[in-house]
Amino acid sequence: MGGGQGAVRPGPPPAAPAPGLYVHVPFCRGKCPYCGFHSCTDLTLIPAWLEALEAEAELYREAFPPFDTLYLGGGTPSLLALPELERLLTALRRVFAVAPGSELTLEANPDDVTPEKLRGYRELGITRLSLGVQSLVEEELRFLQRRHSAVQAEAALNAALAAGFPAVAVDLIYGLPGQSLIVWEKTLGRIAACRPQHLSCYQLTAEAGTPLMARLDRGELALPGEEDGLAFFLFTSEFLTDQGYLHYEVSNFARGEEHFSRHNRKYWQHLPYLGLGPAAHSFMAGQRWWNHADLAAYRQALTRGETPVAGREVLTPEQLRLEALLLGFRTRFGVEKGLLQAGENWQENLARLVETGLVELADGLVVPTREGLAVADRLPELFL
Ligand code: SF4
Repeated sequence: MGGGQGAVRPGPPPAAPAPGLYVHVPFCRGKCPYCGFHSCTDLTLIPAWLEALEAEAELYREAFPPFDTLYLGGGTPSLLALPELERLLTALRRVFAVAPGSELTLEANPDDVTPEKLRGYRELGITRLSLGVQSLVEEELRFLQRRHSAVQAEAALNAALAAGFPAVAVDLIYGLPGQSLIVWEKTLGRIAACRPQHLSCYQLTAEAGTPLMARLDRGELALPGEEDGLAFFLFTSEFLTDQGYLHYEVSNFARGEEHFSRHNRKYWQHLPYLGLGPAAHSFMAGQRWWNHADLAAYRQALTRGETPVAGREVLTPEQLRLEALLLGFRTRFGVEKGLLQAGENWQENLARLVETGLVELADGLVVPTREGLAVADRLPELFL
């Protein structure tokens, strides 16, 4: 990678990619102040959501070829009791074909992880457990209003690693107000020392309508500025690269190509996916559609025998090209050079990116370096 790190070349997507299946589990014990995802805290609604989800799945019976990834996200999928999870997976397997060797991811919060649940997840075929650790600093966990302690998070991670999942993934957040690189390194170093197969490191951002945004607006807090944000990003990338991780997407690191998130790759490379549950998005053949981001509206539509789709769009070739640039420049999969050939100055702009070390050219692909990933969202505008 840039900075003399040696390049990662994950290669192009497979020729006939299988679709991915996403299920949104919209329940959380409480609402974290920075979170913009749809979730509800009334856990008594879980059975009703399950029933609606089964009805929604039926609407897509035979509409997709066999899936090779299933991602249970949220929300907090680990809030489901094992019998509820079993009911969900049984229903999905009854309606859809899931290819042998599929990647089955479940997102879990450390406070839900028990030996019994880990055993149950393995028995139900979960191959990838994604733990929302966020930080190993107590003060930061309190700021984020997480329900686990650092000790609990480390114990959950070690238990998950010992449980025999083919992959354990950890989510972390950096760039908290007032956080220093030294304090961030504490979390990163302790997690990397446990050797999870996959790490996602997200910079804290303010989502509209969240309590965090309100506090920022009132001037009570400040997030790191652009320069500090860049320093966090580069430090994280260099630190984890030194620890043997491949930095393959802006926020994602893996201990080998075999541990790249197969499911997320579908989003990044315009491969087809079906999303079930409130607020879930789907994409197929240049068309995107999304469900009501409200559990009540989602259920009501299905109770009436209607689809819970709230909107859809057919992307024009130019929209598809722009998205491919936006997503591709965020990954080390890169973008095909042919996609850049628009606008008057595209050749000069590309040459400048190469000269300044923000991208590398390889086999017809334009691949961002580490420094390029740091400014990934600004690269597409050079090729509009
Ligand atoms: S961050 Fe996770 S646990 Fe917190 S409210 Fe959002 S989805 Fe729920």
